[in-house]
Amino acid sequence: MSKPVLAIVGRPNVGKSTIFNRIAGERISIVEDMPGVTRDRIYSSAEWLNTEFSLIDTGGIEIGDEPLLHQMRQQAELAIEEADVILFMVDGTEGITAADEEVAKLLFRSKKPIVLGVNKIDNPERRELLYDFYSLGMGEPIGISGTHGIGIGDLLDAAVAHFPDLEEEEKDEDTIYFSLIGRPNVGKSSLVNAILGKERVIVSDIAGTTRDAIDSKFEKDGQKYVIIDTAGMRKRGKVYESTEKYSVMRALKAIERSDVVLMVINAEEGIIEQDKKVAGYAHEAGKAVVIVVNKWDAIEKDDKTMREFEQKIRDHFLYLSYAPIVFVSALTKQRLHHLYPVITQVAENHSLRVQTNVLNDVIMDAVAMNPAPMDKGKRLKINYATQVATKPPTFVLFVNDPNLLHFSYRRFLENRIRETFGFTGTPLRILARQKN
Ligand code: GDP
Ligand code: GDP
Repeated sequence: MSKPVLAIVGRPNVGKSTIFNRIAGERISIVEDMPGVTRDRIYSSAEWLNTEFSLIDTGGIEIGDEPLLHQMRQQAELAIEEADVILFMVDGTEGITAADEEVAKLLFRSKKPIVLGVNKIDNPERRELLYDFYSLGMGEPIGISGTHGIGIGDLLDAAVAHFPDLEEEEKDEDTIYFSLIGRPNVGKSSLVNAILGKERVIVSDIAGTTRDAIDSKFEKDGQKYVIIDTAGMRKRGKVYESTEKYSVMRALKAIERSDVVLMVINAEEGIIEQDKKVAGYAHEAGKAVVIVVNKWDAIEKDDKTMREFEQKIRDHFLYLSYAPIVFVSALTKQRLHHLYPVITQVAENHSLRVQTNVLNDVIMDAVAMNPAPMDKGKRLKINYATQVATKPPTFVLFVNDPNLLHFSYRRFLENRIRETFGFTGTPLRILARQKN
């Protein structure tokens, strides 16, 4: 499903990242134990009054060593292109600056819905600072305070009211939707071409103007697939296309629509920080993940090379321990046929539903073997477990006190569930609820 996008635009120091963190809120803490994911975070899923949306802080997107005004202009253009609604932020204590006016002009011409947030309105006395901002011609300025958490609800109300009605994407249940993500030059486009070159493409079309993706449908051994090719891969040649974070953002949109994400790594270069960041988003979005090591032809190999490379990947991607690894070459098409059964298998696991009674047996056995440790004189007690969702498989444990389910014990239970049911390639979610 495609979510509406809210982009924050404004000059440095008006409080964009403060507001970003306020709105993204608890979503961010989920990934705190994932190295490289939270750092310079500019994108998050968020929710307001049951409306889910994607949030982008364009201020976090650095565009080379350009002068400030130029950077801001590009950030604004990016927002205009990517967002459904733009949150234009200014600093109430500084009044309207020349840079604000410059950006406002650009945004204004775009005809995108704009919500004007005037930040640092920390107390009622400061509300009179708001009046100046009417002259920007962007409607009613909404007074907010990022540090005090004031006005955020009004701000989001205004933003959500402008969200378009994105119709639920019609997906064929029997078709596996997948995308390829990874840094520039790892060979994503080559892989797409290699895959589609060999298979007969049934349809190839541009899926909606807001999505910027080309979907190609093909069939292989009786299984239907749709490969979601992001526009980022088509290299449109604009300045910001080449920026690291921009390509990340493009990837995020593809991830959202995928069942399975192929995380592509360049065997020649090994694993670098940016690889981890992108993979972290796929994990967080709850998608099935396959790690694809491309350019395997370019490597000097002996009988240990593959095992050693695998170990390196495992060390770097601790939270992706469930993802299978496939070594391929887009250039020579070597080992490419290994991909399809793996994609199919992880997609099946991603939508697997297990029997409640078997699940409960597994959990109870696990607890009997290894009870949760005592915590301040109390111990977690699990009454009942049930699977509440698929894609990804999500389990709810009804317990005496949800706060007693700690990270390591959750991991232990997850491992037991994995050992019993398989679940290769898919993240699992385990939630604790107070039993009534
Ligand atoms: P960005 O550069 O636009 O992302 O701005 P930041 O979020 O980094 O904030 C810039 C500075 O403004 C930081 O020192 C924040 O603590 C401060 N700040 C952010 N929001 C508020 C607010 O509501 N009131 C006040 N007084 N300061 C704020
Ligand atoms: P993308 O930016 O991730 O889409 O990467 P491209 O598909 O554009 O590939 C980047 C470069 O790597 C190109 O010069 C390709 O020819 C080369 N390349 C892609 N796949 C392979 C491969 O399997 N082996 C080798 N040796 N080169 C490859």
